[in-house]
Amino acid sequence: MSKPSERIQKLSESATLAMARKSQELKSKGLDVISLSLGEPDFETPEVIKTAAKLAIDENFSHYTPVPGLLSARKAICSKFKRDNNLNFSPEQIVISTGAKQSITNICLSLINKNDEVILPAPYWVSYLDIVKLAEGNPVIVKSSINKDFKVTAKEIKEKITHKTRLIIFSSPCNPSGSVYSEKELREIADVLLDYPNIYILSDEIYEHINFTTDHFSIGSIEKIKDRVITVNGVSKGFAMTGWRVGFMGGPKWLANACNKIQGQTTSATCAISQKATEQAMKENPKITRPMKDIFLSRRDLLLKELSKINGIICNKPQGAFYLFPDVSFYYGKKDNENVIKDSESLCLYLLEKCLVALVPGSAFGNPECIRISYATSEKNLKKAVKRIKKQLEHLS
Ligand code: PMP
Ligand code: GLU
Repeated sequence: MSKPSERIQKLSESATLAMARKSQELKSKGLDVISLSLGEPDFETPEVIKTAAKLAIDENFSHYTPVPGLLSARKAICSKFKRDNNLNFSPEQIVISTGAKQSITNICLSLINKNDEVILPAPYWVSYLDIVKLAEGNPVIVKSSINKDFKVTAKEIKEKITHKTRLIIFSSPCNPSGSVYSEKELREIADVLLDYPNIYILSDEIYEHINFTTDHFSIGSIEKIKDRVITVNGVSKGFAMTGWRVGFMGGPKWLANACNKIQGQTTSATCAISQKATEQAMKENPKITRPMKDIFLSRRDLLLKELSKINGIICNKPQGAFYLFPDVSFYYGKKDNENVIKDSESLCLYLLEKCLVALVPGSAFGNPECIRISYATSEKNLKKAVKRIKKQLEHLS
């Protein structure tokens, strides 16, 4: 039978990557597509990190490293966790992987048994759902909406807990909403979990350095639940290092051992040169990420201003990451001469085909009333894209 396993048949293609692929296809045909689909900083990796990588090549870091990563890199990650997040890990509790995506997959495969429930506040990052499914867990969605700033409360989480609940996964700053959970909100969630000692939290903090307001707070620093929090982070977003493929987790030692075991039988350690670059990134003062954050902030404000000129698009004011996640349901059911907009997918397809702007449907993140707009691109592109969207949407009634 020429078809993949049932496991793979159940897996969806990543919607973010699918949109990026589609816009790339159109671009290669010579079309002037503006891609606001992929969550990838358009900046270059800071020089000091590139220099460390070049040195690593010259110093012949060209061999396999220990599966969880070089001890020196894991030590640097421990110091970073202590310095920035008030998290106390020893190097045995750290596993470096080929991106945070792999860290999340390792953790889910290590923690979830068949039919265990995993709570996902929605909007959730697109891959959480399919990684949980791959691990044979059952995703349990706690839905939020724009009028709650896309956040869920401790009470709403508690209502979804059953004897099968094993894990809660969320990102703060959040992809796709940009929402940031405050220390108070995270402490309330921690309080709920005190009654459920078997439930773990996967706190995805990959947008830590793209936080526009408060200091970043890590739920793992809350003493009473700290042994049940796995903190995932990486260099892709804050340090503009998506292509270097490094992410990492810090968590209980038994879980780090399990992740290490999976990695040892599948990918082995990530690239030695990338690990040395990451080691340098961890040692740097986080201030080096600041110029990029400031640019993201001014783009956010520009995009909010431009979108406010379009009828029927409702935005919240995200406090982090580099996405807007507007509610566009005003347009559902509207049509022009040949097209009917049914949902977030048909709206994204319509905008891609008609005015060559690539976005990602909110349905991929569990909120079908929304679309995701990435502002990891120049102000010029953002202005041009919004102009096109506005003009196109005026055809709908
Ligand atoms: N988590 C979130 C919330 C993300 O947006 C991404 C984006 N790539 C990842 C994890 C994975 O990052 P990477 O694998 O590049 O480290
Ligand atoms: N995390 C980014 C995004 O949400 C990159 C794409 C991906 O890894 O899915 O667009």
